Amino acid sequence: MHNKGLLIVISGPSGAGKGTIIKELIKKGKFWLSVSATTRAPRNGEIDGKSYYFLTREQFEERLRLNDFLEHAEVYGNFYGTPKSNVMERIDNGEDVILEIDIQGALKVKEAYPEGVFIFILPPSMEELKKRIIKRGSETTESLMTRFKSAYKEINYVSKYNYAVTNDTVEVAAEKIESILVAERCRVDRLKDHILDSKEGIIHEQLYD
Ligand code: 5GP
Repeated sequence: MHNKGLLIVISGPSGAGKGTIIKELIKKGKFWLSVSATTRAPRNGEIDGKSYYFLTREQFEERLRLNDFLEHAEVYGNFYGTPKSNVMERIDNGEDVILEIDIQGALKVKEAYPEGVFIFILPPSMEELKKRIIKRGSETTESLMTRFKSAYKEINYVSKYNYAVTNDTVEVAAEKIESILVAERCRVDRLKDHILDSKEGIIHEQLYD
């Protein structure tokens, strides 16, 4: 009997550096990163099936009809969704799964799965955030403005999350998340199922002998 894996939900305004922090986490630990589906066009260097599953609107709607998504949301005029496929199986299997999704999606997941670990990535400052969005350089001016505006609004949602991690440097932010996860795995309410389910009674013996 093993403990369940963690469902780790990471959000934050575009340009806060979620992607880079997640890459760093994956380099150092054993996580399974869920690949989302989207109707947005691929950016330079993005690979279908790796960065996202790039779908047409019709394909996305078809998968919605088939109830294929754990959650989905419309972000900046495009649809994004987390394929249900094996997220839950992996968690039951003891694997830690990362979802990098927007706030609307994260709130839906929190309702359905409150035992998830909800982490909000904050930029070091709003000025820095602006610079990072511009540096990415793949957006039209209109879409840049939309992203700035939403970034300002989105930061208020930090209070809905369990943890806020400021991305001053990628290494330190990733270390903070690793520490959060170490603590989460030790939480008594996560061990409880394990204690109650323990067929061998090993933990009971340790408690009562
Ligand atoms: P981008 O277009 O910059 O890759 O992503 C835009 C936003 O969509 C980001 O906030 C990202 O976290 C979010 N996003 C990516 N995949 C999903 C998903 O499967 N579901 C939801 N709800 N949001 C997603």
